[in-house]
Amino acid sequence: MSSGPAARDRRLLMERSVPGRFAVAIPESDVPPAELPESSLLRDDLDLPEVAQLDLVRYFTLLSQLNFSIDTNFYPLGSCTMKYNPKLNDEAAALPGFSQIHPAQPFETVQGALRLMYELQQMLGEVTGLPGVGLAPLAGAQGEYAGLLIARAWFDSAGKSERTVALIPDSAHGTNPASAAMAGLEVVTVPSNDQGNVDLEALRAACDERTAVFMLTIPSTLGLFNPNILDITEAVHEAGGLVYADGANLNALLGLVKLGDLGFDICHSNLHKTFSTPHGGGGPGAGPVMVAKELASFLPAPVAALGDDGLYRFERPENAIGKINGFHGSFSILVRAWTYMRSMGRNGLREAARNAIINANYVQAKLRDRFDLAADRHCMHETVLSARRQKARGASALDIAKRLLDYGVHAPTMYFPLIVDEALMVEPTETESKETLDRFIRIMRQIDEEIDQDPALLHEAPHDLPNTRLDETTAARRPYLRWQQET
Ligand SMILES: *Cc1c(COP(=O)(O)O)cnc(C)c1O
Repeated sequence: MSSGPAARDRRLLMERSVPGRFAVAIPESDVPPAELPESSLLRDDLDLPEVAQLDLVRYFTLLSQLNFSIDTNFYPLGSCTMKYNPKLNDEAAALPGFSQIHPAQPFETVQGALRLMYELQQMLGEVTGLPGVGLAPLAGAQGEYAGLLIARAWFDSAGKSERTVALIPDSAHGTNPASAAMAGLEVVTVPSNDQGNVDLEALRAACDERTAVFMLTIPSTLGLFNPNILDITEAVHEAGGLVYADGANLNALLGLVKLGDLGFDICHSNLHKTFSTPHGGGGPGAGPVMVAKELASFLPAPVAALGDDGLYRFERPENAIGKINGFHGSFSILVRAWTYMRSMGRNGLREAARNAIINANYVQAKLRDRFDLAADRHCMHETVLSARRQKARGASALDIAKRLLDYGVHAPTMYFPLIVDEALMVEPTETESKETLDRFIRIMRQIDEEIDQDPALLHEAPHDLPNTRLDETTAARRPYLRWQQET
């Protein structure tokens, strides 16, 4: 049994159960009882925990504190943009006028909510330079899927159904080829060159009359701005294809450059990354899809529109690809993103982008003598380090990531992108102070020294967290999702 100031009761809820205890007193029903479903569907042998309210509160509070979170720890998880989520966003989302309405309510009674969606569409259209905006997608991957269906519908409507190939760089996020395949496109991989950019000659060679879209993550998955971007979009357009931007993380571009100006036709962005809404643990999220004016009539239904009568309502775009989920998207996430953008303002968003870039470059500059870089040049909002030298000395990227947990730092993204050996992808975001970054840099340098002094420290890390090294494959394939009596 542990003791000391941090000692906590770590029993599971079932282990706290005492027959007859309960956490809430349910009032007598004042409505007539409804008939119960067929008795074969009912069970009375369910093993449910019986605990008092305080036990319940302590248990869930413990669980919330066993986890790393952006509110408790520095969280440089590259590609995920774990920026601070101002509590103002949550307050706005909890306002009764936003949180206690129903999607099927008459539109006259939810004008404020519709106006918010309409204004968010306009703001996202402006920030990306792609004015047709659909807020319905529930995640980045669903935004990709919607965007690719739009591309297909556009080619079908122009009698060019033979355009069914999606060209995707080898550094892409795994959702890109997966979404393309789900949208019925054939995926062809385009290699990167030694600078970490798309190989322009290889791209030109791959473009032909079957090309539907070229999907490019921007900034690239290596956290780099591609200086040939205009040549790329032009090459794809010359071949008659559309260019798709994976803008899941726009943190380095906000207010500095618009995707539409670079020649992109379609993009999505993750509100739960760039636009400061909480994420992790699988959702909820929002991945709006943005398109050039000519493609706007294909957006998924519904979109928020402002009628001549001054009332906001949902409309179905003329050539809509259909609905991609039950209603109109993750509304509370939309409220958070709107609140974030309005409270930051134009200049605030630009400042956030600049600081995100400076912070990542600061970390890169202070670590580049110890860690190899995926590409030895200035980065955008994230830097991809390689622990290949550390691996040769006996500690892998995984060991370093696990050792960081001992210092109270969430691990960077590891082993991604796949084209970098022993990748550690660090995204500090704009919201971290210089002191926090300096502490992270000191810790990374110290861990690098520990490899030679005491390698076991790394191999056995983390040392005092409830879980140490999980079998991630089994955890994903055969998860334990409920308590089971030990036998
Ligand atoms: C996170 C991310 C995605 C997928 O977003 P989800 O909301 O997890 O579906 C796609 N592309 C990039 C570059 C990302 O970082």
